Amino acid sequence: MTIPFLDLRAAYLELKSEIDAAVARVLDGGWYVLGPEVEAFEAEFAAYCGAAHAVGVANGLDALKLALRALNIGPGDEVIVPSNTYVATWLAVTQRGATPVPVEPDARTYNIDPDRIAASLTPRTRAILPVHLYGQPADLDPILAIARRHGLAVVEDAAQAHGARYRGRRIGSHGDVVCWSFYPSKNLGAFGDAGAITTNRADLADRIRVLRNYGSREKYVNEVVGVNSRLDPLQAAVLRVKLQHLDDWNARRRTIAAVYTDGLRDAPLALPHVPDWAEPAWHLYVIKTTNRDALQKRLTNAGVGTSIHYPIPPHKQKVYADLRLAPDALPIASQLADEVLSLPMGPHLEPAQAKEVSDLVATVLSKIDA
Ligand SMILES: *Cc1c(COP(=O)(O)O)cnc(C)c1O
Repeated sequence: MTIPFLDLRAAYLELKSEIDAAVARVLDGGWYVLGPEVEAFEAEFAAYCGAAHAVGVANGLDALKLALRALNIGPGDEVIVPSNTYVATWLAVTQRGATPVPVEPDARTYNIDPDRIAASLTPRTRAILPVHLYGQPADLDPILAIARRHGLAVVEDAAQAHGARYRGRRIGSHGDVVCWSFYPSKNLGAFGDAGAITTNRADLADRIRVLRNYGSREKYVNEVVGVNSRLDPLQAAVLRVKLQHLDDWNARRRTIAAVYTDGLRDAPLALPHVPDWAEPAWHLYVIKTTNRDALQKRLTNAGVGTSIHYPIPPHKQKVYADLRLAPDALPIASQLADEVLSLPMGPHLEPAQAKEVSDLVATVLSKIDA
């Protein structure tokens, strides 16, 4: 059997005629930076997310950095981040000159535990940066309540959560700014780098719009030290096509997740926990087992692609040695790094393939366990 972890080319082939036409339209239009395609995507993505504004930027890391900058977060400030996340979440804070302050996840959802946030607040805390990891929405209401009580901003890292819902409402406007990546493997993926922010706050949308384009509102008039972080119109045109298929493709992911959950119900491992207020986007289907490495090896040998999100938590990365966190400072994040495994997932995986994978996982684990 050969079952890839993710088949990106299949996504292109399914929409080839629509995508080729969109790309040709941009090339033919003669407008290659910002312009009508970017504006149209921004309007369509804002409407999809239920947000008042969307601003396209070059990638997800820039979205996070620009959001923090628009909130005037910089040197001397602290930002609450999850201990269990992709390193980009922390890097955005560090690149602003601020300090990431990690908070451990809920042991069942793997997302930041709101009950642990209060103990990490200091007079320097300026914002909370929850991540909707694996496409599972973080528990936003208690996070927003803490932020309100302490006068903090909430910046969401939604790079894995396109289309996910929290208490019935799509991710995209709960916090002050929501940051998106359209990296090719995301649920809404471009054919290159791309990103955006969504927000209901006109002031923040305006600041980020100016910052992303050389600090300029009017050509050759520069208000602030801006950057060049514009969404490419070719990618915007591709994203406009793919946005129309996002709900359908997320539904296919949900079907795959249901096949896994059904097939692995009695296996000796931890399955994704979905609280009743969550509608995940199923960016990843992540299982947890102390036999992770042996299981991954067996799956690889059988032709099943898997991945680990993430093998080294940010606090154990060399880049964060200067935070001087004890190796055992964040035991839940460390344990997750040792035990999580992401099974094949995507809109182009067949339910029958997912069934084969779950049968194999159950068989391998029962043998290891015996
Ligand atoms: C992908 C991702 C990012 C960064 O996105 P890029 O577009 O690659 O810069 C940030 N945070 C999380 C959680 C991600 O998965």
